[in-house]
Amino acid sequence: MIQINKINFANFRFYASLNDFLPKKRRQETFAYFFKGNPSIKDTIESLGVPHPEVELILVNGESVDFSYRVKAKDYFSIYPHFSSLEISNNLLRDRILYPHFVLDVHLGKLATQMRLLGFNTLYLNNYSDEELAKISHQQQRIILTRDIALLKRSLVIHGYWIRGKDTESQLIEVLRRFNLSSKISPFKRCLRCNGLIISVKKEVIIDKLEPLTKQYYNEFYQCTECSQIYWKGSHYPKLKKIIEKVRDSSFRNSLLNN
Ligand SMILES: [Zn+2]
Repeated sequence: MIQINKINFANFRFYASLNDFLPKKRRQETFAYFFKGNPSIKDTIESLGVPHPEVELILVNGESVDFSYRVKAKDYFSIYPHFSSLEISNNLLRDRILYPHFVLDVHLGKLATQMRLLGFNTLYLNNYSDEELAKISHQQQRIILTRDIALLKRSLVIHGYWIRGKDTESQLIEVLRRFNLSSKISPFKRCLRCNGLIISVKKEVIIDKLEPLTKQYYNEFYQCTECSQIYWKGSHYPKLKKIIEKVRDSSFRNSLLNN
C-alpha cells in the first residue's frame, strides 16, 4: 500500500515546435518529472502544458507507444510533433488526413475567410461554443485551428493545431506549412460567406440581381450553391491574386527551409 503514494520520476524531452508550450527552463532539454501512481502518458503530457493533438509520436525508452501508456518510474520519453519528413508513419498516434478540412474557433474569422479564398473547406461561425467546436471536429474529422490551448486539450479533439501567429497573413502561411497545403490551393472554389462550393453561372440567369455597373462591365459570374451569393472577378480580383501569389511563394520558401 505504501507503494501507491511513492513519488517517482520519469525523464522527458520534447522536440521542435512542442517546446512552444513549455516554460523556458524545460525547452530543448531533458528534464525529470515527478509523479504519483501510474498516470497515462496523455494526461502527463497535458499536465506539462502540451495539448495532445500537437503530439504525433511518443517514444518511451526508444519504443513507440500510444496515449494510453502508463508512465513508469525512470521511463525516458521523447515526444515529437508533426514532421513533414517523418517516415515512420506506422508508429504515429493518428492517421494523417490527406485532404484536410477545418473548423476554426470564434476568434479566427479573418483566417477563415482567407482559407476559403484559397479553396479550403473551412467551417466557421462566430457563435460556436468550445463544446460544439470539439464535437464538430470529432464527428466530421475536421482539424480544429485555435489560439486556445484549453480547447485542444478536450478529449474529443483528435486533430488540432494551435495557431502561433497573431496576424492573419502569418497565420495563413503557418497553416499552409503545417498541413502541406501549398500544392492544394484552389482559389475561387468556396464561398467566402458560407463555405459552400461556387460554380460558374450564366449572366442571363442572375442578371436581375446585378447592380447596373456590374451588369455593364462584367460577363463572367459565379454563384454559391448554398447561399446563392454571386461572385465576379471585379476590381478586387488583382489584389486577391497578389495575396495568393505572396502566400504561395512564402509557404513554398519556408517548406524548402524546413526540409
Ligand atoms: Zn455561400
